[in-house]
Amino acid sequence: MVDGTGSVRRLLVVDDERIQRLIVARAVEALGFQTDAAATLQEAADHLVRQRYDAVVLDLSLGEAEGISLLQGLRDAGGDPLVIFISRLDSRVRIAAMRLAAAFGLRVAGALEKPVAPAALRALLRTPPPRHADRDSTMTLAPTAEDLAGALDRGELCAEFQPKVALPDGRVVGVEALARWKRLGAAAVPPDVFIPIAEQNGLIEALTAQILQHALGACRRWRPGNPACSVAVNISPLVLTNANLPEYIDRLLQEAHLGPGALVAEITESSVIANPLIAAEVLTRLRIKGVSLSIDDFGTGHSSLLTLLRLPFSELKIDRSFISTCDTDPEAWKIVRATISMARELGLTVVAEGIETEEVAAKLRHAGCDIGQGWYFGRPMPEDALAAWMAARLVPAA
Ligand code: C2E
Ligand code: MG
Ligand code: MG
Repeated sequence: MVDGTGSVRRLLVVDDERIQRLIVARAVEALGFQTDAAATLQEAADHLVRQRYDAVVLDLSLGEAEGISLLQGLRDAGGDPLVIFISRLDSRVRIAAMRLAAAFGLRVAGALEKPVAPAALRALLRTPPPRHADRDSTMTLAPTAEDLAGALDRGELCAEFQPKVALPDGRVVGVEALARWKRLGAAAVPPDVFIPIAEQNGLIEALTAQILQHALGACRRWRPGNPACSVAVNISPLVLTNANLPEYIDRLLQEAHLGPGALVAEITESSVIANPLIAAEVLTRLRIKGVSLSIDDFGTGHSSLLTLLRLPFSELKIDRSFISTCDTDPEAWKIVRATISMARELGLTVVAEGIETEEVAAKLRHAGCDIGQGWYFGRPMPEDALAAWMAARLVPAA
């Protein structure tokens, strides 16, 4: 009845049907859970005041009330419990509930159809997503703007490169440069943490310049063995407000002896574009010069159909959140298919990012997606490792 730390594991089941409460309690007994049961939202709230839970199994329909009304209370109760939904409603409702709970910052293990299959419930409890405390550990070490400025001065930031592969024939068509900050003797800081710090503290231009220089230099060094290889660099909307960007990029391309076709600028449009007119002008000038423009994270709400109309994009990247769920979530797959066909109608190259399995790669290939990127093909790698990876792929073809 104890976990690895020696304490009892507790589960709360919230369901208005007594038989379901019993099924759940019996199913999790074998995993060492001690179960409390609640038939109403009020009973559940009373339990949450008295007790911290490791897991909560929540029915979406509690008579007249909706189980999701408890999400706020679950978050406020703390303890980072694992949340599992159960429901007789169709899978769309269960998936919507999971998305909502994740948006509340809760740790969601899954959603099961009622009557609950005990083995499926145990499987969800056995392989929980990581605790938020673990995921947040990098945040507690979050560096300051001064740390980042020092790192930029010392040249501690560099790019790693992830391959982009043509889905029809497996050719490597390019790579994406992803900023990395590896601190000596300290945990690596992920870009989702340091890019916002750079953006909020006037450091994003310096950071982008370093990544652009590294990326174009690396592309130049790969070119002899891979003449068609291009490199994509993420450009923050803030950088687009600098009207000198096209000339700056031109100069870097010349210094690296590369044509404009070697560079893809990936842009996540967001509401922070301080000056949309200048941004549109800068992007249009880049496109006229021959640089490709990619709309990144398409479908996340940062990118919109209006952006597609307004700006001269040549490529559309479907966000990882759709690709990683497209084999389990029929709605996500419908959105992916519709996005591919819309992009093709508009003459855009379609890239799917976050492909982790062969099945998903094959599904996307059949649906007409042009390019794939993801762990299935290769993780982001340092420059030398990527060169070796590309060379190894060329051998069988030769
Ligand atoms: P992004 O541009 O959408 O880059 C793709 C992210 O997905 C990368 O995360 C990549 O490592 C990750 N990824 C790729 N394939 C898979 C997969 O199969 N599974 C999983 N789980 N993840 C995969 P990363 O490197 O942590 O970068 C996060 C974001 O930070 C980037 O998203 C981009 O928005 C931003 N970023 C990174 N480098 C730069 C930069 O130099 N400048 C700017 N402005 N933003 C950057
Ligand atoms: Mg990107
Ligand atoms: Mg993306």
